[in-house]
Amino acid sequence: MTQPMFERIALIGIGLIGSSISHAVRRKGLAQTIVGSARTKATIETALKLRLIDGGCVKAADAVKGADLVILGVPVGACGPIVEEIAPNLRQGAILTDVGSVKAAVVRDVAPHVPKGVHFIAAHPIAGTEKSGPESGFAELFDGRWTVLTPEPGTDKAAVEKLKAFWMALGAKVEIMGAEHHDLVLAITSHLPHLIAYNIVNTAEHLQQVTNTEVIKFSAGGFRDFTRIAASDPTMWRDVFLNNKEAVLEMLGRFSEDLTELQRAIRFGDGDKLFRLFAEARSIRRGIIQAGQDTTAPDFGRGTQTDVPTDAKKGKAETR
Ligand code: NAP
Repeated sequence: MTQPMFERIALIGIGLIGSSISHAVRRKGLAQTIVGSARTKATIETALKLRLIDGGCVKAADAVKGADLVILGVPVGACGPIVEEIAPNLRQGAILTDVGSVKAAVVRDVAPHVPKGVHFIAAHPIAGTEKSGPESGFAELFDGRWTVLTPEPGTDKAAVEKLKAFWMALGAKVEIMGAEHHDLVLAITSHLPHLIAYNIVNTAEHLQQVTNTEVIKFSAGGFRDFTRIAASDPTMWRDVFLNNKEAVLEMLGRFSEDLTELQRAIRFGDGDKLFRLFAEARSIRRGIIQAGQDTTAPDFGRGTQTDVPTDAKKGKAETR
């Protein structure tokens, strides 16, 4: 049997991402032991029952003792205070990383607390579903998806290479970039689409002339897909918008300008313009399929209840 990559992995936060990491680590035998910590006892008990962790405790500072890899799988805003608490117990030479959907704010909040001799490398697996909690994870979540690492200049190269190898062993493809650039890219590809989904679902909810029952009954593909995205965890997304404010506001400004252009084309009956803008957008979809980042199946491969693949029942893995 090959040597595991890590002796002891500490998962701080055992939700969708933490539990999926555990499944994928077990699949490949990447750790001798996995320990975990969560805010509530209930989550730790569930994680123990599902064999996601070999041991667990509510106190994160206890869970990290002796770990050579510590992964923060908590909402972005919780990372700084947690690292302040665990810092004295971090093992020399350990790699400390996170999975947060925003990177510059995590680096800003975490880096000042990281002890000398501990290698902090921020990371974001661009894969997820609208589900939360320890029961929602699955080993295949990261297969073929990108994970972005945003090490600060001067970070130990061997540690970066080891974390990169870890994510590749979990099934992901890895890219390295600056934290600010990550946040700008994700603002348009993930954060703004979630904001739009939350907004359109609320707009439908607030309608006077159309009843809620009608919205649900006649919910067509487009709206249904928005409701699925808008079912995502409110705490996680609150923290994303609080912590990627500038980039999201920049993208929102551009989005509003483009929406006004569409509004004008509709008002003035400019069919040529509408056709051109829709055709441009369609080619982006083709690019995503060609890059292997989504399925070509109609209706996103949703299918009928009986032919849905196992992982899709847990929630369809998608870029997040
Ligand atoms: P989740 O399923 O809601 O799980 C969050 C975990 O963090 C739970 O174990 C929770 O403990 C714990 N937690 C929450 N607040 C905490 C706090 N203040 N202190 C300590 N522990 C706390 O969340 P998730 O979807 O795995 O997301 C975790 C991170 O991954 C977030 O930073 C998110 O931005 C990032 N991410 C998410 C996705 C996605 O699609 N969901 C994709 C990529 C990256 P309890 O269960 O005991 O409350």
